Amino acid sequence: MSLKIYNTLTRQKDLFTPLAPPYVGMYVCGPTVYNNAHLGNVRTFMTFDLLFRYLTHLGYKVRYVRNITDVGHLVGDGDEGEDKIGRMAKLEQLEPMEIVQRYTNDFHRVMEDFNILPPSIEPTATGHLIEQIEAVQDLIKKGLAYESNGSVYFDINAYNAAGNDYGKLSGRILEDLLNETRELDGQSEKRNPLDFAIWKNASPEHLMQWNSPWGRGFPGWHLECTCMSAKYLGNQFDIHGGGMDLKFPHHECEIAQGKGLTGTDPVRYWMHTNMLTVNGQKMSKSLGNSFLPAQLFSGDHELLEQAYSPMTVRFFMLQSQYRSTLDFSNDALKAAQKGFKRLANGLRVLKSLEYVAEEGVVSDEKKREDIEKSLQGFYDGMNDDLNTSVAIAHLFNLLKYVNMLYMNQLKAAALGEDLFAKLKENFIIFFEDVLGLQEEPAEGTAVLTGMLNLYREYKAAQQYDKVDEVRSYFKNQGLVIRDMKHRIDWAYEE
Ligand SMILES: [Zn+2]
Repeated sequence: MSLKIYNTLTRQKDLFTPLAPPYVGMYVCGPTVYNNAHLGNVRTFMTFDLLFRYLTHLGYKVRYVRNITDVGHLVGDGDEGEDKIGRMAKLEQLEPMEIVQRYTNDFHRVMEDFNILPPSIEPTATGHLIEQIEAVQDLIKKGLAYESNGSVYFDINAYNAAGNDYGKLSGRILEDLLNETRELDGQSEKRNPLDFAIWKNASPEHLMQWNSPWGRGFPGWHLECTCMSAKYLGNQFDIHGGGMDLKFPHHECEIAQGKGLTGTDPVRYWMHTNMLTVNGQKMSKSLGNSFLPAQLFSGDHELLEQAYSPMTVRFFMLQSQYRSTLDFSNDALKAAQKGFKRLANGLRVLKSLEYVAEEGVVSDEKKREDIEKSLQGFYDGMNDDLNTSVAIAHLFNLLKYVNMLYMNQLKAAALGEDLFAKLKENFIIFFEDVLGLQEEPAEGTAVLTGMLNLYREYKAAQQYDKVDEVRSYFKNQGLVIRDMKHRIDWAYEE
């Protein structure tokens, strides 16, 4: 398999070759747990869930680390402002760890709703303070950081003087950055306005603080990810991901810290997901066009015309490649709902289909070829930087043949036993294992099978009012009865 990944660092699609195959190390910046998980986050975590699933499917043994930021992420995303969690704790008059627990729970629920697999390790920043303090000491010792008024800053000038290039990931030029930098409180503590805090001095009213060689304080947000990734994945690892808003300064700082500490670039492939828009506008709280997953599931938001199920939303997000912007609209979501139900129906019927050897059935070479092409096409799409829109188009082409088999318009024998088995196995793997989609019937399937039997009985007894009752029972759950010559089934209403 030749998987290519767009690497933000090299600005091109690079062939993916892990450092130590079959092992792959992957780190993704997790949520800062101070409010409900929003959809932009969901898209990022779904993208890396897809990659985690795909790499695993290809046979790699992936150690996937996704952290929880539970301290140190300041409101301004830089060195200024209050701690996001501390501020929320004050507002709600709660202990900061209550805020952390509440929104960690919420985050996990949302991940589960979307069938996003848990990572292999989910470390927390507060659980790695010792590692962070040691890293700060180490950077000071190496002359790449300095203490100032109880805070410690990373020294960009010293880092670049040692032959490094701060700004290489985001393509920022130092002079431009300096011109953009405003003089803020605390800037005077720094030798260079671009220097960033790796340890911050805490004032007495600051809720989350710990003892350190530099007095009471708390770790810098950027340093957390450097320490947790190095601890569990080593000084250099394969893949680091996150939303594109994290490219600068967060990931740029991670590179500087990692390189400063060990002399090696910490990450080989940097991946960034693009953002979400709503009806063409950037999704943001202040514009009132941002909604929570729960609002999507209930339809309870003025911009939503109906409720959308988690799998509809998952399918909708996966239809676009992660590097393109994704626009939410009711029309697009409704189309995704229809598409998902068609695929889910295909999956259901395919699971019930068995190969039947039949005498005298001629092999259909044209169809055989087309199926082989789409089975390969799915992989080609995925291998092209996770181009899910191409991969899913091939899945729909395969669905066409699944439906022909189901409707008796195509004999399994015309495909041959091997290709029939390959089609069945791969369709299920693509849908469930790689794309992470799952069926979501409202009732247990045993109940539905029982109702279907009643339908057959009433029909045989010509009790048509009862037959209609059973039909509406299915309809109320978004299901239909497919009454065909050769079989009777239920299916999702498309
Ligand atoms: Zn991070």
